[in-house]
Amino acid sequence: VLKLLHPMLETAPEQPEKPSTLERIVDRVRGTGKGIRIQGADGLLVRYAQCCQPVPGDKVVGYVTRGRGVSIHRGDCPNLLLLGHEPERRMEIDWHEMAGERFVVRLALEGNDRRGLYADVAAAVSATGTDIKSLELKTTDGKVTGSAMVEVENLAHLERIMKAARRVKGIAVVSRREKITAEE
Ligand SMILES: [Zn+2]
Repeated sequence: VLKLLHPMLETAPEQPEKPSTLERIVDRVRGTGKGIRIQGADGLLVRYAQCCQPVPGDKVVGYVTRGRGVSIHRGDCPNLLLLGHEPERRMEIDWHEMAGERFVVRLALEGNDRRGLYADVAAAVSATGTDIKSLELKTTDGKVTGSAMVEVENLAHLERIMKAARRVKGIAVVSRREKITAEE
């Protein structure tokens, strides 16, 4: 469940949470897999930014987009830095995980190719109890680059996957992939 707090509350983070007219119960819109809608008079549309693909457990920031509601970004998203000249459009977000909710995250992989690498990466990720949406590895002059789309519950789950993938012989780098997009 996402709770949107008024930006003015950011100045007093130590105070206990009080019910606020700005607080909204949010419901995930079934079937889209990406969006949630804030129920209330303003009917703001909330979406998870695809540039940084936040998951529960990440520090996140809401950003009021023009005409599209609120985008939820990771606090360290490079696009937020680009948007920093309009701080009044930032919203503090308190994100509580909902049981059963899953988030697709793209991971970038780099390393050195060897026979069986693809199968070993797939096996290591699967062994963490993870659904793999896609896995692509490309080899150029013995170097491997690629990406894995994995379905995760939260940050702890994602970190288990990244750790497992890094332990595969031949894999040197596993990182979350961010995209710079000016459109938000
Ligand atoms: Zn972002």
